[in-house]
Amino acid sequence: MAVERTLSIIKPDATRRNLTGKINARFEERGLRIVAQRRLKLSRDEAERFYAVHRERPFFKDLVAFMTSGPVVVQVLEGESAVALNREIMGATNPASAAPGTIRKDFAESIEANSVHGSDSAENARTEVAFFFSESEICP
Ligand code: GDP
Repeated sequence: MAVERTLSIIKPDATRRNLTGKINARFEERGLRIVAQRRLKLSRDEAERFYAVHRERPFFKDLVAFMTSGPVVVQVLEGESAVALNREIMGATNPASAAPGTIRKDFAESIEANSVHGSDSAENARTEVAFFFSESEICP
């Protein structure tokens, strides 16, 4: 096992319902440390670049509209196997299929408004962390 970093985003459906603290508690209770965090509103260009891998998917336009509909909280989580552990804490993309006790099961509104993003591999985590944070903004 190795200490890793992963990018997490608390999405607009969750910031709108004032769930940032409750979601952060889920990470901290499972041993992940929030080593950088910033609340911001994504521009359309930023959301399109961040989700570029989904550009050809039928839901891309809706996803960009949703992700720019309100503030998000971008954060770097650090801990043992942080990438996989965060995916476990988040639960499946579709809240209807998410396991009990996961963030998406407990908080998500729909497959789109599913409260959190988390990097899905160590390589993507490095790219996604660098998308939002410089090394000097990360304080382990
Ligand atoms: P994730 O890694 O679990 O976030 O899932 P994906 O990378 O497959 O999808 C990225 C994001 O696109 C998801 O978190 C949802 O917000 C959204 N999304 C995924 N599938 C669908 C879908 O079928 N319909 C809509 N409207 N949004 C979706």
